[in-house]
Order: sequence, then C-alpha cells, then structure tokens
Amino acid sequence: MAINFIPNDPLASNALPMRQQAPRPDRGTTLARFVMPGAVAPGLYRPGTAEFLFWQCREAALAAVDTWEILQGPLRQWSPYAISRKRLPLHPNDGDDLNAYYDRQSVSFFEHTTGAKTTFSAASTDVVAHECGHALLDSIRPDLWDSPFVEVAALHEAFGDCMALLTAFADPPTRRALLAVSPDLATSNFVEATAEDLSDGVRRDPRLGPRHPASAPRHALNSFRWRLPTTLPASGPPPVLTSEVHSFGRVFTGCFYDTVRNIFTSSSARTEAALWAAVRTAGKLLIRGAREAPLRPRFFQSVGRAMVLADRTLNAGANRQAIGDAFSRHAIALGSAAMLAPTASLAGPAPLLGARRASLSAATRGDLLKRIGARPGARLSVRVGKVGGSTVVSAVHYREVPLQPVSRRLKGVVAVVPESTLVGAAGTRAALLGALPEATSTADEVHAFVEMLMEHDDIAFEGAAPAAGRRAVAGRGRTCELPTHAIRLMGRKKVLSRLRFASCPGRFVR
Ligand SMILES: [Zn+2]
Repeated sequence: MAINFIPNDPLASNALPMRQQAPRPDRGTTLARFVMPGAVAPGLYRPGTAEFLFWQCREAALAAVDTWEILQGPLRQWSPYAISRKRLPLHPNDGDDLNAYYDRQSVSFFEHTTGAKTTFSAASTDVVAHECGHALLDSIRPDLWDSPFVEVAALHEAFGDCMALLTAFADPPTRRALLAVSPDLATSNFVEATAEDLSDGVRRDPRLGPRHPASAPRHALNSFRWRLPTTLPASGPPPVLTSEVHSFGRVFTGCFYDTVRNIFTSSSARTEAALWAAVRTAGKLLIRGAREAPLRPRFFQSVGRAMVLADRTLNAGANRQAIGDAFSRHAIALGSAAMLAPTASLAGPAPLLGARRASLSAATRGDLLKRIGARPGARLSVRVGKVGGSTVVSAVHYREVPLQPVSRRLKGVVAVVPESTLVGAAGTRAALLGALPEATSTADEVHAFVEMLMEHDDIAFEGAAPAAGRRAVAGRGRTCELPTHAIRLMGRKKVLSRLRFASCPGRFVR
C-alpha cells in the first residue's frame, strides 16, 4: 500500500511535488529504531491529517537514517545517554508549538495555526532530517552535548542541516530535479534552502514575525564568512550573522555545501550519478570529521581539518583542494597538518598507546595540568584518539567557568567545559600536538555562549529542572516555551546543562 510523501518541504513543492511511494520497511531488531505512537495502516492520506503526518514523519526519519547508513554503515545504537539505545520515541505531533526538538528522550514535532494556515513541523522532510541529525551526531559524539562553546553547539545545528541536505541528495528524483534547476549547484535552489514551511510559520506568527532569527529558510549556499563568535551580536534577523547557534551554524553548512559543490564540479561529468558520487564522498568525510575532531573552541576548523585528514586516509588526499577551498570561501583556514604537529615537548616518556587504551605518565599529566592552568588535583581524562589514520592520546581536562560575570541571575552557577589536548611522541619523549587550551579564552568563549542564551531567554530558571521532565519544562500547549538549557544541581554545584536542541531559538514570550 502506497503513502503520500513530501520528499523535501511543503513549500518546495513547485520544484519537487508530493508523490506516492511504498513506505520504507520497519528496521530490523538488531538495529537502532524509532518507536511511534498512534500507528495507522498505510494509505494515501491528505496532508493536514494525523494519518498523513504519521507516515510522512516516519518516512522522512527513516530516509535520514538510511542516508546515514549509506555513509557510515549500520546504526546499531542511539546515544549512550538516550532514553533507550535501541528505541527512540518519534512524536509526529506533540501539541501546539512552532518548533521541533531532540532531547535524548525523543524526537518531537508540533503544529501551530496562524490565521488560515496550520504549520506541521513534521510535514517537512528537511525539519525531520535535521532533528534526526542531532540524534545521529549524539550517537557518535555524546561529548558535544553539554559543551558551552558557540561553535560546538552551532556545529550540532549545522550537522542537522547537513543531514537535511544529504537526505535530499540521497533521493534520485531530488537529484534530477535539482540538476534541472541548478546544473552546477551554484544558484539558489530548493535543496540548499531548508525548513521553508516552518520558517514561514514563524514569520506569520504575530509574536515572532519577520525579525525573528528563524523566520526565513536557512541557506547552505551562502557567503557568510567566519568571525570569532565573541565578536558577533547575540541576536538579529535572518540576514545577519549572529552568535545564535542556528545563525552561526550557517557558516559551517556553507563550508559543507561548497565541499559537495567543489567535488562535483571538478568531476568530468555533471550527471546525476556524478553528483551522487560527490555527495557520498563529502558525506563520509563530514561524518568521520565530526567523529574525530578534537573538542575545541574553534570547532568548525577542527572538523574541517579532521575532514582533510580523513580524506588523506580514505581517498589519498584527492579532495584536499576541494575541502580547503570551500572552508577558505567562508574565511576558515584549515592548515590541517597543524592539528597533529608537535608543538612542545612534555615531561615524561612517550605515552603508552594500544588499540583501545592509552596512558600518560604521572610526570606528563602533571606537566600538562600545570601548562593549562588547572587547579591542583584536577582530573585529566585520558583515552585513545584517532584522527585521520593517526592514533594519539586525547587528554580532557574539565574546567569550571563561573557564570556570574554574565548575569547576577547566574550567581554561583558554573559551566563545566571539556578542554581537549592531543599528546603524542617526539622520539622517546611525550609531546604536545597542536594547540594548548588557554583559560582566559575558554572563559571568554563560554561567556559569549551564555550571553547568547540569556539574550534568547533560553535558560530555564524556574526551579530545578527534572532530569527527564520534558513535559514539566516544555509546558505543553504554549508557543516557544522550550528552553535549551537549565541549571542543575550536581553534588553541591549549580551547573549549566543542556536540555535539548530545539529548532526555534528562544522563548520569545516575555
Ligand atoms: Zn537543531
């Protein structure tokens, strides 16, 4: 039995209309799956009905996971912090809101009516694939979740948009329709524009309106140039680059789209098959880059460098120029060799490195902690790090940054910031590879991030947030009441913690 399916976005139907197709089969029990309430028999339901939304959302989510598996192999488990590693709840319609989110408990979508139009966030394959992108990235990089760096949170958002792009590119009718309107991908088109319909809903809503950051589609084909997020405004309308994470993420999404474009246009044929080959190459490099990139304030550069190093291992460096040019167009210089170059010798012998275990001598640990200005007795978490075919030691120090300088409301609250350092060998000695984290810069970056959250009213202050209290915090049935962060009590410390990645920044009900 066929279903009605919107393969891109309800407002992209001029370029790629709704079609009838057989629904994808259920995923095997050895794989990570979705669980969905309200199952109905497949059929040709009308958009706007609950039955249509069920099958639309299911199909879009499975399309995103299928795309991931083409690039990355079988998805056997969700994040170690997800409610279940095998079964992630997927809610096509969780009530009244202009939003969508992933919060480790579920992937959830909403509906909202303004005037004559009801916007269903799950009706857009772009939006569903974006939210699934958060869950997929969380399955390989759970350490990114709580990082209070603008670029790390922005990379999470950009990765969602990249999964929306990849899911679109993986669909053969989409590739044909795309090449018909933009043969070299260099003109504005329905694939590089994401979330057209949801942003239209935000623009129409009188409380949000056309100055809201989410009131226009995000474009992967863009000319935004990277700037230090500490120097950007915390908020602004869609055309302005701000430190708001969806806004700033557009820089990285631009780098990725341009990487696809460069690989495609350097191939001899401009065919649908050549486009698909370019997309698979770039998609594999993106996922591997995101998996291997050391956690740094300059995380866009870190992922870009890891993509170049992955390309060296996977493709003998065939796409180095394509990647470097793409990032350079957005003002990110990669200089990938710098990430693994020895920069200083450390006390103690070369680290012990096995396939799964790594250890540093007490002398090396002590020297490293002293150099990064850690407090006495600070912990250093050491594990094996693999970057572009090289095996190194990844040593992570957790720095507590007081947040009171940002706002009196944050008195006594800290952000816990993982600072990552790579250690290798120089001869028989331990050696620092690449850059060393620096306390003042870490604090500046965290303060910029928290200022941005405060500006968007994105921290839940009302009481202690329950660990799994989605509904308690979400306030079902109210618009844009989904803060991304809360203050949690951990031991005797008040710590800023992430609740979710949500598509509509800010609560905006003031
Ligand atoms: Zn998102």
